Amino acid sequence: MASYDYDLFVIGGGSGGVRAGRLAAGLGKKVAVAEMFRFGGTCVIRGCVPKKLLVYASQYSKLLADAAGYGWTVGESYFDWPALVDAKNKEIARLEGLYRKGLESNKAEMIDSRAGVTGPNSVKIEETGKEVTAERILIATGGRANPMLELPGHEHCISSDQIFDLPELPKRLIVLGAGYIALEFACIFAHLGTEVTVVYRGPEILRGFDGDVRAQLHEAMEKKGVRFELNANFKSVSLQAGVRHVELTNGKTIEAEQVLLAAGRKPNTEMLGLEAAGVALEWDGRVCVNEYSQTDVPSIYAVGDATDRVNLTPVAIHEAMCFIDTVYKDNPTMPDHALVPTAVFSQPEIGTVGLGEEEAAERFPHLKVFKSVFRPMKYILPGRDEKMLMKIIVDGDSDAVLGVHIVGPDAGEMAQLLGISLKMGATKADFDRTMALHPTAAEELVTLYQPSYEVVDGKRKG
Ligand code: FAD
Ligand code: NDP
Repeated sequence: MASYDYDLFVIGGGSGGVRAGRLAAGLGKKVAVAEMFRFGGTCVIRGCVPKKLLVYASQYSKLLADAAGYGWTVGESYFDWPALVDAKNKEIARLEGLYRKGLESNKAEMIDSRAGVTGPNSVKIEETGKEVTAERILIATGGRANPMLELPGHEHCISSDQIFDLPELPKRLIVLGAGYIALEFACIFAHLGTEVTVVYRGPEILRGFDGDVRAQLHEAMEKKGVRFELNANFKSVSLQAGVRHVELTNGKTIEAEQVLLAAGRKPNTEMLGLEAAGVALEWDGRVCVNEYSQTDVPSIYAVGDATDRVNLTPVAIHEAMCFIDTVYKDNPTMPDHALVPTAVFSQPEIGTVGLGEEEAAERFPHLKVFKSVFRPMKYILPGRDEKMLMKIIVDGDSDAVLGVHIVGPDAGEMAQLLGISLKMGATKADFDRTMALHPTAAEELVTLYQPSYEVVDGKRKG
């Protein structure tokens, strides 16, 4: 039997790679994890975690404004961006330390270097130039922001990687795109006092989400002063005396101190040696894998954003755990990508699980739609003119709940729990027989007794 330097060599120390490396090492396997930047990966270093810290920071402007409605007199307030960046960096360093400790205590070797595949069982470590062998290789290299190299002046723009550490809070920000990253940062900066303009090529933001959710967020963001240039794209960007001038396809030119490109992400698989080793990649660089995350080279597996299935942290971790079950626990397990709850940490927040109305109408002949738009109690005394949306999509034939969509405070927290109900196959009758918890906003979900309207063969009735 061939002998290898390692049982498992993981390339990429992010959400998927660290989980797989730690679990395999915990099972007594000889494991190395190579990371070219910082352990923790996108989520911890420049994704979910620092983003959520910025969301929390930005929410204080709203809390301070609303406090008077509850009898508080708040003194003069001032926001210090460098202080926030500093505090955020300390927390990220702490979390990175925990990730490293988890690998270390399970006796996985950490290699602080870029690594590439040189064959079905071999990897080259860039820092040392050393080639090592492994019985199995796991590609967990994640994704990176679309740099839009074809855009004239792209070098004057930033991606989400840079936005976390800007030297100062921009007075004005232009954001390209209207997906998760674009809208989350548009809301963060708008709440911190920056003038924000979102430029999007389509007619409505958040393509792929339920139509009411899209319209509700759009309206709420506009009310807060975010400007939208829809049906428009960037033509070019130029830098003049510290100000970025963005020429749009609709003939306008807009200006800002910073321009964020948030036009999607691409799998991080360039120059990784995969194709030379016989691993198939799709046109956009995603690693082709079977339902067990195995490539067509049997010793090479891939998980997480590198495979571009569902690009979320818990999904990368789940895929890594399925890989461990399949390969090291004699328990072949396919990752389950159905009914993944998700949140957009915009302000107001979106929480959603299951099908939106439009997608459900394409798949089911008869839908019942239960919908409520209301002002949450917490906004009444401050006089905040912001509505909450709750929407339940039900299969009119089987009564199964196909999707639940929420826009408003704590929507993400609610979507996490709704995910359990939908995963268990909840029907609308199950929602109806659940006692309301009063007074909450979430009680609306179990007190919507009559459908707002039905959709039959794709057409709305009533
Ligand atoms: P990653 O976490 O990206 O890790 C890959 C690692 O591989 C990186 O550290 C990289 O440096 C390293 N690497 C790459 N190539 C090599 C190489 N050749 N050699 C060595 N190392 C290499 N998801 C959520 O669920 N919730 C959120 O709120 C959320 N917010 C996000 C906010 C932003 C701004 C971004 C960008 C993403 C966000 N995501 C969120 C998505 C989430 O971060 C990713 O889905 C998740 O990190 C994917 O994990 P991964 O293990 O596949 O890759
Ligand atoms: P998204 O796919 O969410 O959004 C990309 C946006 O860019 C869309 O509006 C898209 O438009 C637009 N776009 C794409 N190409 C172009 C182009 N050539 N010119 C102009 N606009 C373009 O990607 P993000 O980068 O925002 O996020 C990547 C992924 O990371 C998400 O899909 C999600 O999986 C994950 N993520 C999750 C978060 C969370 O869980 N809260 C937060 C942040 C990221 P169109 O729709 O028309 O294609």
